[in-house]
Amino acid sequence: MTTKPEILALFSQGLDSILAIKIIQQQNLQVKALKFITPFFSYDIKGRETEYCEQIRKSYAIDLDIIDLTPNYLKMLAAPEYGYGKNFNPCLDCKIMMLTQARIKAEEMGVQAIITGEVVGQRPFSQRRDTMRRIEKLSLTEGLLLRPLSAKLLTPTRAENAGLIDRDKLFDFSGRGRKPQMALAEELKVRDYLTPAGGCLLTDPGFALRVKTLYQQNLIPTATDLELLKFGRFYPLQKADEFIIVGRHRADNLELLATATEDYFIVQLAAMAGPVAILKGSADQLSSAAEKLCQHSKAKNLSEVEIKWRRGRENGAFTIKNSLNK
Ligand code: SF4
Repeated sequence: MTTKPEILALFSQGLDSILAIKIIQQQNLQVKALKFITPFFSYDIKGRETEYCEQIRKSYAIDLDIIDLTPNYLKMLAAPEYGYGKNFNPCLDCKIMMLTQARIKAEEMGVQAIITGEVVGQRPFSQRRDTMRRIEKLSLTEGLLLRPLSAKLLTPTRAENAGLIDRDKLFDFSGRGRKPQMALAEELKVRDYLTPAGGCLLTDPGFALRVKTLYQQNLIPTATDLELLKFGRFYPLQKADEFIIVGRHRADNLELLATATEDYFIVQLAAMAGPVAILKGSADQLSSAAEKLCQHSKAKNLSEVEIKWRRGRENGAFTIKNSLNK
C-alpha cells in the first residue's frame, strides 16, 4: 500500500539532499522526492527513468519522480531574467524554475512543505541567506520551503508552525565545512552518494562557451545539439546553431554516432579508419566537415581523400583535394 506523500523534496543524489529527506522521514512523514533533469545536469537518466527511480528506492528508501525541464529550460537560457553567473549558468532563474515547478506539484498534491538540502552559507552566492530569501519570494514558496539542515537558523515555515514537522529535530548547519553533514551521514548510515563535483555543465567554462556559441543570433539549440556538444572538437559555422564536431577518440566517435539523429550528417573517411564528424548544417557544408575530418586523421598526408556521408536515409560519397597537403 502506498501512503499519500505529506512532504515534497528536491533530490540531487548529493549527500545534503539525502540527509534532508532522511531527517524528515525520521519524523514519520511520507516524502515524495523530485529530480529535475536537463541536458546540463543529470541527463544520463533520460530514457532510463524507471530504472533510476527503482535504484534510488532500493539504495535510500526514497520515492522519486523525474521531471525533464528541457523545453522550458532551453528557452529560459536564451535570456534569463536574472542573468548569468561566471559562465553560462543562470543559477537564479534555474532555482526559481525548479522551485516553481515543485510548488505547482505541491499544490496539486496538497503537501505542506517543500524541502531541500540547502545549507546557509555553503555556496558563495546561491546559498547566502539574502539570496535564499529572494529565491523563495520569486518562486512564491515563502513559508512552504524548508531547509532541514539549516532550519534553526531560518524563519519557521508553516509546516513547523502547524506542528507537522518538529523544529527541535531539525539542524543549524551553516558554512562550507562538511563535518556536521559527515557525522550525520554516519549516524543515519548514508554511505553512498554523489560528490558535489558531479554538478552542472553550465559552470564548466569550456562547455559553457560552446553552448553560448549556439545561442547567438537569437537561436535556441535542441537537446540533441547540446548532447553532441559534450564530445569531440567543436567548430562553429556561420549560422549560430550550425556546427561541425569531430570525435577525438573511439569513445567520442561511438557517442557521436549514438547521439546524432536523422537531422545531422555523419561524415567519415571512405577508405580508411578515422574519426567521425557530425555536421549540423546544409549539404554544401559537407566539404568543410570533410576538411576537418582530414585534419584530425591519417588522411592529412594524402593529396586526395575519399569521403562518405549519410543523413537519415540519404547517403553519398565524394573526393576532396586535401588542402593541407598541397
Ligand atoms: S549550477 Fe547549474 S544546476 Fe545549479 S543552480 Fe546553477 S544553473 Fe542551476
